Amino acid sequence: MFRGYGGRSEPGDNPFFQLKLAVLRGEIGAWSSLLSDPEPPAARYCAVRNRFKKRELSSLSECAWLVLTLPVMPELPEVEIVRRSLEPHMVGSRVVEVEARAIKLREGITPAHWSDRILGTRVIALERRGKYLIAKAERAAALFHLGMSGRMVLRRPEEPRAPHTHLVLRFDHGIEVRFIDPRRFGAAVVMDLDRLEAHSGLASLGPDPLDGDVEGALRAAGHSRSPIRSVLLDQSVLAGLGNIYANEALSRAGISPLRRASAIAPRRMRALADAIRAVLTDALEAGGTTLRDGGFVNAAGEGGYFSVNLAVYGREGEPCLRCGGSIVRRVLSGRSVFYCPKCQR
Ligand code: ZN
Repeated sequence: MFRGYGGRSEPGDNPFFQLKLAVLRGEIGAWSSLLSDPEPPAARYCAVRNRFKKRELSSLSECAWLVLTLPVMPELPEVEIVRRSLEPHMVGSRVVEVEARAIKLREGITPAHWSDRILGTRVIALERRGKYLIAKAERAAALFHLGMSGRMVLRRPEEPRAPHTHLVLRFDHGIEVRFIDPRRFGAAVVMDLDRLEAHSGLASLGPDPLDGDVEGALRAAGHSRSPIRSVLLDQSVLAGLGNIYANEALSRAGISPLRRASAIAPRRMRALADAIRAVLTDALEAGGTTLRDGGFVNAAGEGGYFSVNLAVYGREGEPCLRCGGSIVRRVLSGRSVFYCPKCQR
């Protein structure tokens, strides 16, 4: 599970990635006590990261600090769990205080925009589209993307701020929603309501795999000569599907991730649509459990992990759960695919 340093930057070889994966798969149960620790100080965080870069880290315990503070890149189920955990605290509540740091994320935070548009308004709905969260307020809409490492957490005002807290919205019930993003690939942007649909991030999104027409989306993409895994990651085909669940869905449907979309029979495409919904639903159920266990502090606030049963992802060299053969890993467009060559054609 924990591999040595591969010397390559491809995620599958990266020991941090392996550790994150182990956490995701619930294999590092012993470290769960660390999850209840408040955010580690920034200094420690940076020190661990630097030692990792210099390859001085050799033990799980040394890596655990960083691993447990950097969530696995959120995919649709993780974002949906965040939405569900925030919803009861945001919807119907009024924003009474805004603290925004002018900062360059994927889309920069402009403090004046937040004060002008959000302060004093009541949140009407918290929606998710793909991996975007959209808070609709009376006059404005706030659009959030967690990027690689973003988190949205609920905290009481007296609780210490984590490093890289870029935005704090305090609600009339006294609880704060904080947007934290160490690596700054996320987005937190506020706009007038009528500008929302034209936003570049939303305008090109395909249907949502949880409640959209997955069959139709796959049928429309069925002429593509690209490998099916690449088609599934194309956010204009389906919104919110990432590499982990794309691999898992292909495994469940018995389709090789390398097979061209145009070479997959319609019947198998329909099976794939079912498999996509099934893996996402399973992950949501796993996350929902975490959410209940986590109580007030939502899943994301605790690191964003929940235990999911991964059949192929991250299991290179391990036995296929169906036939016992070895799971293989290939690199496709710079990202890993994991599959069983016997069961997936
Ligand atoms: Zn197999």
